[in-house]
Amino acid sequence: MADCECLSGCPFFNDKMANMPAMAASYKKRYCHNEYATCGRYMVFKALGKAKVPADMFPNQEERARTIIAGG
Ligand code: SF4
Repeated sequence: MADCECLSGCPFFNDKMANMPAMAASYKKRYCHNEYATCGRYMVFKALGKAKVPADMFPNQEERARTIIAGG
């Protein structure tokens, strides 16, 4: 895979979120530069639009993303 299309405007990728996790660098490598299709933020963005992505959602929250997309 390649880089996520959201890189330039993503609060997580640009270190704009409160409480950035210690794992942030490895998440960026894993998700933002590779498996972005499984990133929770990306999943909600694609399904529902940017406005629906929770401000505090991290890439590894795939289950949370599925719940939101399902209407929860
Ligand atoms: S993979 Fe997720 S966290 Fe990374 S830039 Fe894309 S939407 Fe943002």
